[in-house]
Amino acid sequence: MIILGIETSCDETSAALVRDGRNLLAEVTATQMEVHAAFGGVVPEVASRRHVTDITRVVDKVFVDAGLTLGDVDAIAVTCGPGLLGSLLVGVSAAKGYALASGKPLLGIHHIAGHVAAATIESDVRPPFLCLVVSGGHTELLVVDEAFRFTKLGGTRDDAAGEAFDKVGRLIGLAYPGGPKVDRLADEGNPHAYEFPRALLDDGAYDFSFSGLKSAVNNELTKRRNRREEIQVADVCASFRAAVIDVLMDKTARAVEETGLRQVVVAGGVAANRGLRSAMQTYQQSTGVRVVFPPLKWCTDNAAMIASAAFYKAVQGFQSDLSLNAYAQLSLDTWQTW
Ligand code: ATP
Ligand code: FE
Ligand code: MG
Repeated sequence: MIILGIETSCDETSAALVRDGRNLLAEVTATQMEVHAAFGGVVPEVASRRHVTDITRVVDKVFVDAGLTLGDVDAIAVTCGPGLLGSLLVGVSAAKGYALASGKPLLGIHHIAGHVAAATIESDVRPPFLCLVVSGGHTELLVVDEAFRFTKLGGTRDDAAGEAFDKVGRLIGLAYPGGPKVDRLADEGNPHAYEFPRALLDDGAYDFSFSGLKSAVNNELTKRRNRREEIQVADVCASFRAAVIDVLMDKTARAVEETGLRQVVVAGGVAANRGLRSAMQTYQQSTGVRVVFPPLKWCTDNAAMIASAAFYKAVQGFQSDLSLNAYAQLSLDTWQTW
């Protein structure tokens, strides 16, 4: 089954053709990162306008690259939420157009289901597994069963991990998105230089909170600036990153013990984090639990992951119709009842 996937939930206009959820035939992504960098973050109105300009040529190119036409696909899948409403609407409207024109089924896919499915593309990873989703807008621990159904163990109560990285980046004056730059600086710093809080560590639940950590970083910076003390930016980044990773590792390890699952997938943009990768690697070596990181290009937003998730839903008979809408807020639970 060949599925055309479309993803426009934030600032990437992406289209992909994937066979049976696993084999990538072609993928084209137009990123808007430079456009938004000037504003210090994604500007929704600018993002949706750019999607409108890019979507048709991105889809056209993916067909050219794969040597296929719309008539060759079995279904059309699109991210229908959560995300920026105006951006989502561009993808959903385009997907409806392609579905209508071709008479092929339309599937509205949850963005996070896509991030999870990314681990299965061009890999031997199969559910069941535990999934740690760490992205710009989400920090969640999910149990993913054989039928690709999700049970949420916990999630963030405030900032997502990626959001916290970006906010700390902004505090130290880094251009958007600060996450990757904070990560790189952290490699050169001392993770024990500053004592930053590890929120909810002693809490038995699987919830996360990163806004207090971000405030602690801000307070430390302000204090030192006021005293005209020199700030070792690399040390701040390293100490901040260590605090985030400690919490992520602790909760993931606890979930492994409680669920008995021996496979952990790390999904979302923060899966690119070098500190997290190395902590997970150490964990894998000491416990024998398999830890999977999708290739970097499928950790951040892309359409291949949407086409992949759609396949697992399609084989169970899932289908949307032309009344499909875009949802800025959409929980996995709600989507799973569709
Ligand atoms: P969501 O998927 O929750 O809607 P999103 O799609 O914006 O959010 P992604 O594209 O999955 O998020 O990931 C982007 C986020 O990942 C940004 O916050 C970015 O700073 C962060 N990120 C990327 N690389 C790294 C890194 N090496 N270290 C820390 N954060 C990173
Ligand atoms: Fe995302
Ligand atoms: Mg993104």
